[in-house]
Amino acid sequence: MKNRVSKVFYLKAEKLGYGKDGFLDEHSNSSETQTGASRNTSEKAAHPVLKRGHTETIERLLAPFRSSMNLSDTDQTAVKFHPGEEGNTSYVTPYETNLVIKGLDLPEGRTFLTDTTVLYPGRRMNAVDYTQLAHEHGFGPPNTPPFLVADGLRGTDEVEVSLPEKWNLPPARLAQLIPAADNMVVISHFKGHLLSSFGGALKNLGMGCASRGGKLFQHSSVKPRIKKSKCIACGVCAQHCPADAILVEDTAHLDKEKCIGCGECLQRCPTSAIGVSWNQEKDVFMKRMSAYAAAVVRSTQVSVYINFIVRVAPDCDCMKDTGAFLVNDIGIVASTDPVAIDTASLHLVNNATPPPSSPVAQQANPGVDKFIAYHPSTKGELVLEYAEHFGIGTRKYELIEV
Ligand code: SF4
Ligand code: SF4
Repeated sequence: MKNRVSKVFYLKAEKLGYGKDGFLDEHSNSSETQTGASRNTSEKAAHPVLKRGHTETIERLLAPFRSSMNLSDTDQTAVKFHPGEEGNTSYVTPYETNLVIKGLDLPEGRTFLTDTTVLYPGRRMNAVDYTQLAHEHGFGPPNTPPFLVADGLRGTDEVEVSLPEKWNLPPARLAQLIPAADNMVVISHFKGHLLSSFGGALKNLGMGCASRGGKLFQHSSVKPRIKKSKCIACGVCAQHCPADAILVEDTAHLDKEKCIGCGECLQRCPTSAIGVSWNQEKDVFMKRMSAYAAAVVRSTQVSVYINFIVRVAPDCDCMKDTGAFLVNDIGIVASTDPVAIDTASLHLVNNATPPPSSPVAQQANPGVDKFIAYHPSTKGELVLEYAEHFGIGTRKYELIEV
């Protein structure tokens, strides 16, 4: 696999017409085309039909994958995506999702959107609230195909997928709907992440397709540390800790035995008193996430990976606040190789010049890792190295502009 070179097709953002705000102009009275997902033109004001110019452009990007899908009349296709945490605004929109569905010609009635529940408190912790939130963000009929939570009501619907003995890891615990699908299309928003540096196709597979138990296994090596000199004993971390692992007295104290490594306290602390002890744990976390990505690829037919490198936020779509973008919109890439597409996406971001509003505007030199500039204790390259090691792709790619 290491010597293989994978193709990554690249559509620049300006060719699709992304505006300065990072979004496509969805509303227009002219040049429209209908989608299976939004045929009712009376819905147009709230749920616009796709503009013909957009569909023709995305069809050019996805043509090589559309022609090789070979779906049977009974195949059910899962579109793995992330509908965004409550308050987040940078996630891949229903309109962009429908563009992909139209571009791949996925059949109405046999296509569904899917994601899994999360470990931290919020509206994505159980399937009922999560489905409601996804609908509030515009996902589900009549806008898009139905949204199904892949790991059931409370994240416990799972199947175990054995991994090769030499990997020395227990079976991967995947969300039940993932291997059950006959075919999968993986749509990822490429952006930063406080634990894995960046998130793209591999994180969408490895973490995003795991059941609650699988997520816990991946996170369990990541324990935060508390800088007592910065702690103001506000108690916010303890209030949000789902494992009751923090006691706040004169400062916050962590019970490492109870901690499940969800990272919620890092996100909540107002003084940045909580960090991750990466020296020992980063390898384990990245290795496990990559192994889970490999488990998905080994158990599920994935037709294509599509990364939206637009609205490149410093943190993931699980965050309520999006923050200023690291770089301007770059475009959309597509590939059959999850390692190559994430490698290409990372290089495209790192070679971009950040705008003055970017939190990493001072790190303008091409090639400087913009995600590490924002999350200095992370090393995103590790997930690419491990995924290549586990045989699901290559870091060598050919970028083909369409
Ligand atoms: S201590 Fe932090 S990382 Fe550990 S379980 Fe609590 S919130 Fe999550
Ligand atoms: S949230 Fe931060 S400042 Fe507040 S108690 Fe926890 S560690 Fe200390």
